[in-house]
Amino acid sequence: MSRFREKFTNGFIIGSNQAPNNVIYLQIFTKELGVITAKAKVSPKLTGKFQGKLEPLTKAMFVLYKGQTTWSIKEITNVQNTHLDLVTHPIQELIHFICKIYRQLLPEDEPLASLFVMLEQVHQNIANHIYSTSSIIYFLAQTLDKIGILPNLKTCPGCKSEITGNATYDPAQQEIFCTNCIPNHSEQLVQINLNQRKTIYYATKTNLIDFNKIQIDPNIQAKSIRLLQVITANYLGKSPSLVSLPI
Ligand SMILES: [Zn+2]
Repeated sequence: MSRFREKFTNGFIIGSNQAPNNVIYLQIFTKELGVITAKAKVSPKLTGKFQGKLEPLTKAMFVLYKGQTTWSIKEITNVQNTHLDLVTHPIQELIHFICKIYRQLLPEDEPLASLFVMLEQVHQNIANHIYSTSSIIYFLAQTLDKIGILPNLKTCPGCKSEITGNATYDPAQQEIFCTNCIPNHSEQLVQINLNQRKTIYYATKTNLIDFNKIQIDPNIQAKSIRLLQVITANYLGKSPSLVSLPI
């Protein structure tokens, strides 16, 4: 038995694929291991019961063991289902959006514990049926910041000075420039105003409860999400429309 390494970890289900012979492959974002793909063998009798645990973004404790190369699931306990059929449509959309973004953005087998803790906050809100546009800004800003693809919001990479007012995001360089250093080579520059930058910056520096307390103009909310969407799509090498958002 020593060739098996057993592991207990909390995780969120972000994807599942049914394979032949009652095998299911789950993509799980775990606290200790990052995103992993794990195999579960399900007896036909138990399939219905087991599949009840496979809703997107279900949180659970997974008992895993590693064979030669792949993780297998021995047991799933402490299951907190997302109850997709009971939540409102915007929350359903948000759940699917989070899973889709994480399947695309997060590398496999790379622990991202601080991102996991952040997702626990968002998941708690979802469990309490709390939905707000602010939570989408918070989720995206925190995610991009914690995996290191959010550009510097305060300091211009051109003149190394603090950006004080309006700014410009250049997808080609994946950087935000002050008005004096606007690149002239790209046709896809995105204008950013001060409130947008403040909103996204604050989202990276606070917790979800405090972030949800601040009043953000709906126009600034929409623009902030649009900018985060462009940064995400640009990182993934996709068109922003392919990173569709639940708003
Ligand atoms: Zn500058």
